[in-house]
Amino acid sequence: MSLTFDFKPNPAPLATEEREGLLADPGFGRVFTDHMAVVQYTEGKGWHSARIQPREAIATDPASSVLHYAQEIFEGLKAYRHPDGSIALFRPDANARRLQNSAERMAMPALPEDIFVESVRALVRTDKDWVPSIPEGALYLRPFVFASEVFLGVKPSAEYIYAVIASSVGSYWKGGVKAISLWATKTYTRAAPGGTGAAKCGGNYAASLIALAEASRQGCDQVVFLDAVERRYVEELGGMNVFFVFADGTVRTPPLGGTILPGITRDSLIRLARDQGLTVEEAPYSIEDWQADAESGRLVEAFACGTAAVVTPIGRVKGDGFDFTVGSGGPGQLTERLHRQLTDIQFGRAADPYGWVQRVV
Ligand SMILES: *Cc1c(COP(=O)(O)O)cnc(C)c1O
Repeated sequence: MSLTFDFKPNPAPLATEEREGLLADPGFGRVFTDHMAVVQYTEGKGWHSARIQPREAIATDPASSVLHYAQEIFEGLKAYRHPDGSIALFRPDANARRLQNSAERMAMPALPEDIFVESVRALVRTDKDWVPSIPEGALYLRPFVFASEVFLGVKPSAEYIYAVIASSVGSYWKGGVKAISLWATKTYTRAAPGGTGAAKCGGNYAASLIALAEASRQGCDQVVFLDAVERRYVEELGGMNVFFVFADGTVRTPPLGGTILPGITRDSLIRLARDQGLTVEEAPYSIEDWQADAESGRLVEAFACGTAAVVTPIGRVKGDGFDFTVGSGGPGQLTERLHRQLTDIQFGRAADPYGWVQRVV
């Protein structure tokens, strides 16, 4: 299925000088472009009214079901400026498929892959001047779908709005890559078997914020969630997947299985590591083993990964009755190498043997 996107240009785009001022130091998630992509869904009619239009508020009826029952899913990907001036997306087809999987779990209609990819490409083409040229800068794209039917009954909505907004971003971690500290919460869990942990839905984030506040009170940067059944096995950070690097050169990451979000960065790093001869195990790892291995020196590095921050070293882990340092407490060698290898492909500084990079303009 494909749709043609109507184009309604913004009659009052931001002046060049103002835009360039914002792009010099955009931070993360605060600077938005002139346009957005919108596609609507109506039961019986399917996806329709595809358009690129001025970015503006979306009028929402107070009885829209998303406001009450939280049927909402989203994606996150980036467009990168390459040295030759072209702009490219990284694996947008994988984001399209993941949005479909999230939709299935949340009883929402699947957006066809080609509509997803075209919506993102059309928005990037339209707002290409918003892709920053600063080091590690990119245009962060946020596709999302929410239930818009006006009805208070509990059932899957009969109407949805799919939209893509774009935000110019600098490096996620201001002041360069530095190791983060994690709080291993025993109070809260992120996802239970049979739940929505593998779906990229806003509700998972809403439920995780209180744990982040707990981490903050403990002086930590982020939360690491343990499995909901045994409260032992490391799952993820709630917005980033985790990897462990052992002194013998093997790499481990928790297995997908319904409670962990299948990160596209995670998948790409597994591929990069395996293709340089490293053994990557997708196997459970307990917090007790993490502590013992960090203390014995068997574990030398740990890092978190996701589109927004790419690869982030984990320096320290705290929890109820323990506090340990991983490796040197700073960025490890493999962490730095994988970060560089992946960003070199994304930014067009290295060849892409995988077909991950898709040129837009
Ligand atoms: C988006 C997300 C990730 C990272 O996925 P990427 O595709 O690598 O950006 C990890 N965990 C959660 C909960 C997420 O929502």
